[in-house]
Amino acid sequence: MRIALQLLILSCCCLTGWSQEAHTHVHGREIVFPDIEGYRTLKCDFHIHTVFSDGYVWPTIRVEEAVKDGLDAIALTEHIEYQPWSDDISHPDRNRSFEIATELATAFDLIVVHGAEITRDLPPGHANAIFITDANKLVLEDSIEAYREAKRQGGFIFWNHPNWIRQQPDGKATLSELHKMLLAEDLLDGIEVVNDITYSDEALQIALEQQITIMGTSDIHNLVDWKFDIANGGHRPITLVFARERNSEAIKDALIARRTVVWYRNLLVGETTFLKPLVEASIRVKDVSYEGPSSVALVQLENVSDATFLLRNQGAFNFHTTADVISLPAHERTQIQVKTGEQMESFRLYFEVLNAIVAPSKHLDFSLQIDVPKH
Ligand code: ZN
Repeated sequence: MRIALQLLILSCCCLTGWSQEAHTHVHGREIVFPDIEGYRTLKCDFHIHTVFSDGYVWPTIRVEEAVKDGLDAIALTEHIEYQPWSDDISHPDRNRSFEIATELATAFDLIVVHGAEITRDLPPGHANAIFITDANKLVLEDSIEAYREAKRQGGFIFWNHPNWIRQQPDGKATLSELHKMLLAEDLLDGIEVVNDITYSDEALQIALEQQITIMGTSDIHNLVDWKFDIANGGHRPITLVFARERNSEAIKDALIARRTVVWYRNLLVGETTFLKPLVEASIRVKDVSYEGPSSVALVQLENVSDATFLLRNQGAFNFHTTADVISLPAHERTQIQVKTGEQMESFRLYFEVLNAIVAPSKHLDFSLQIDVPKH
């Protein structure tokens, strides 16, 4: 199904060909980002609930939603300690949610990673353990023992919504002594910088300082369509994982190596090492020429990603049709006109990407090499 859609998009590009006007491709709800040099860009949501904890839907619905969203991998992370529907739906086996989802996912080529949510007061708060093998063994009195058991199973553990105001009233993710102990014992591999409809600068700072993985998840309990307004172009928050291959083992390797970028609303969050190649792969120079004998260069840029890029000019050349901020809408071509002072064979444009952050309040720097073909 996905291949057919990509072919359709490709042929649409070919038919349209060169155009001075920006043009739009019709895109479905599938989330689209290009691969980067050396890695597949995999779209993943590792924080999802079903009726097997406090969610409202059966696991198969999660698989279907993920397929519609074009995701590569999901984890169903049922609360180990919280099963509010257990009087109605008895589910003593904590692996059932994973098993039911896996059975359907195989037909769709969707990767389901085995996970569970260790659900405690702060500290340590809530944490997801993914890539585990048996969630039943995490049913333990001592939360730290549950973390250790998850690790024994080969798990990757990340701190969920450290900014959750029900546990952290000021909304500021803060490392406790217990968290420092977990980090020292290698029991905390990542942190949610984005959860549901919240973003945390403090969590990003912790990820960078502690060198743990930047995560973004939906934490969906009801329906993705309703929560994230899919009908009006919304999308769930996800983690883009840069993996050598498209399989579970490669995803785990990538998470451990901190090769992630979070996609949330129109914001991309990650370390420069991976955010920069992602932006570079997303924005392509399609055509360059000078307007007659003038020194105003017409530069056609194509954005092949779901992000609408907002670029603030940082270079020496000003633009002819706009002020210093330009917008490159998702999946469109946009022409910018650059006053280079004289006709040049090549030049470079320098930008700050306003919708891409590499640290709290720090935007990604990005430049584009522009080569003018000889006519
Ligand atoms: Zn949760």
